[in-house]
Amino acid sequence: MIFYSTKTASIKASAEEAIFNSLPADNGLYMPESIPQLSPDFLANIENKTFNEIAIEITHTLFGDEITRSEIETIIHKAYDFEAPVRQINEQDYVLELFHGPSMAFKDFGARFMAAIMSHYLLRSKKQINILVATSGDTGGAVAQGFYKIPGISVTILYPSGKVSDIQEKQLTTLGHNVTAIEIDGTFDDCQKLVKEAFLDPELNAKFNLASANSINIARLIPQSFYYFSAYAQLKKLGKPVVFSVPSGNFGNLSAGLLAYKMGLPVEHFIAATNLNNAVPRYLESGAYEPRASIETVSNAMDVGNPSNFVRLQRFFEDDWTLVTKKITGFYFDDEQTKTAMREVFEKSEYVMCPHTAVAYKGLQEYRKLNTSDFTGVFLSTAHPAKFIDLVEETLEKSIEIPERLESLLSIEKVATKMEASFSDFKNLLMSTLS
Ligand SMILES: *Cc1c(COP(=O)(O)O)cnc(C)c1O
Repeated sequence: MIFYSTKTASIKASAEEAIFNSLPADNGLYMPESIPQLSPDFLANIENKTFNEIAIEITHTLFGDEITRSEIETIIHKAYDFEAPVRQINEQDYVLELFHGPSMAFKDFGARFMAAIMSHYLLRSKKQINILVATSGDTGGAVAQGFYKIPGISVTILYPSGKVSDIQEKQLTTLGHNVTAIEIDGTFDDCQKLVKEAFLDPELNAKFNLASANSINIARLIPQSFYYFSAYAQLKKLGKPVVFSVPSGNFGNLSAGLLAYKMGLPVEHFIAATNLNNAVPRYLESGAYEPRASIETVSNAMDVGNPSNFVRLQRFFEDDWTLVTKKITGFYFDDEQTKTAMREVFEKSEYVMCPHTAVAYKGLQEYRKLNTSDFTGVFLSTAHPAKFIDLVEETLEKSIEIPERLESLLSIEKVATKMEASFSDFKNLLMSTLS
């Protein structure tokens, strides 16, 4: 599969190049030059396929020119030993649970695939690579778990001191081996700036193979399309059009849904649901894209003022606003509306949602008010509620269970190197620890 840069169509890359570079040299985004179609036969029988069979078929359709089918099978089985089940919430609506992976957030789907496909390429080239990643919470845990003990890859994670939840911090700081956590006395933006400076530093780049695991890497985006197909497979027997509601921040998740749709998945409509960081819903309303500085909300993994995948979202529709609005409707909600939705679903269905999931649920309910046709609604649940236990318990006035996988982390001592947000300190540390 050939990728091009959204800024300069003549800049092209193979899948391997796009995965290891993360971004084209002109700072655009990689997009597939043409989107291959899944065979009608596969879609006609998709309800009989397992998650991994679906993932293998999609990966083969996209990367079959570079990776053999049996290598793809190895990659997928290495990446996924967890599922993406749908559960019925009310008469017409289902939740797609994306939190059954090792870090209990949907970012596991991207991170695990990325680790498996990178290690496939590295086995051939025998290179050693060093992943640098800044996290505001969930990305770090998923990347740490995804790359843990993968030969040939070391991971350095920067996180802002005191600004991630206890559980999120433990997910970054308790693995050890090839995963190093650096606790920065500063904000997420400071962490991201240090990582960016490292990628631009000639001395570091001459000495080490640095790679990024940020969310715009196509190796994180593409695998997120798998669960849209899997949800459709699980709901196909109902025989109704399917509408997906996606809780969005950087819009990687929704972009992956659009990729699935462009590959042939029958999707009636998408809902872009956000918190008050609402640049995309406002664009869908008015046609004007006006990013703003991000503001803090209770669904903090979606506190993104200027979503990095917005360019991709438009490009899937040839940058034509009218076409975009035919397929996507946007809604945004404040913290009170989010918490009310959490209470409503708990009271009616005894189902506990994280705040991000609640935003998607609410988006679906609002869309039902505008569109009374008969469809199956699916809202994506992006994290296990226990990852946000303080907020969830306070909102529902009820204590909730922490899954063993998260609970056991709390008693392990954290190991992190604390430092100021200083590039020279960070560089010295990399020089002395990387190989
Ligand atoms: C990252 C994240 C999101 C936002 O996903 P995007 O792909 O950035 O739109 C939503 N919910 C949770 C729990 C997340 O971790």
